[in-house]
Amino acid sequence: MNKFVMPGDKLSYAEEYITGEGVYEENGVLFAAVAGKVVIEEKIIKIVPVKEIPKISKGDVVLGKIVDVRNSIALVEIVRKKGFDRDLAHTGLAALHISNVQNDYIKDLSTAVRYMDIIKARVIDENKLTLSTKEADMGVLKSICSVCKSPMIREGDLLKCPNCGNVETRKISKDYGTGKW
Ligand SMILES: [Zn+2]
Repeated sequence: MNKFVMPGDKLSYAEEYITGEGVYEENGVLFAAVAGKVVIEEKIIKIVPVKEIPKISKGDVVLGKIVDVRNSIALVEIVRKKGFDRDLAHTGLAALHISNVQNDYIKDLSTAVRYMDIIKARVIDENKLTLSTKEADMGVLKSICSVCKSPMIREGDLLKCPNCGNVETRKISKDYGTGKW
């Protein structure tokens, strides 16, 4: 179930579920005590408040972590949404397609993003959760060396490892290493 409810909405019956957070019972009927999303786990029915899951909309700027890089797509765990000062949970994985990384053609996605990179991206489709990093301030904000795992430092258009000297390419955000996004 992936349903949003308002306080007082009827959910189910007490005989069917165990009452969890945000749910109350009255005469055998279960109601939502708060606004949020209905979550059922192992017979427990609970409401996860809406404010913990702000809607991701087209045009939003998000902070994400690269969790997988395939041939033409990188999977991104969305961590934050700009304008919302808490970490997000359970938004699901977003996708960054190779054609949405930068304006110039790239042949190999791993020249632009790599596993564990932190990126800033714009949501281009809220239903499919697809992202773009084409704008100058979008792209990789933080990265670690793929050889020794040290944080990489920006040198012009490249990233250099201060520990082992390894040099790598990325689609670098102009905010790289500044701590802001
Ligand atoms: Zn290194």
